[in-house]
Amino acid sequence: MSRKDSQKITQNFMVRRTRQFIAIVAAVILVLLVAMLYKRSDLFGEFSKNTLAFAQILVILAFINFTAFNWRCPACKKYMGNDVNPRGCKKCGARLQ
Ligand SMILES: [Zn+2]
Repeated sequence: MSRKDSQKITQNFMVRRTRQFIAIVAAVILVLLVAMLYKRSDLFGEFSKNTLAFAQILVILAFINFTAFNWRCPACKKYMGNDVNPRGCKKCGARLQ
């Protein structure tokens, strides 16, 4: 593999890691927001429990789908697993950072 290719891989990995980080923050905020709506129905009006539970599930499903799409090795496109900061791909051995 040429130097330019491995540079592309590390750059693409950084983009994916940034996107993943934003998705984690967004998912946590949304889940907390829904939990707050649940607790402070006096402030935000009455939402049915079913609606809020459904909203939580939607957020989690969206996050899982996004992760499945985003959290892949730039070189071999395999899922990178639970490590949020891998040095290299466990599947193909590409250096990621
Ligand atoms: Zn790989």
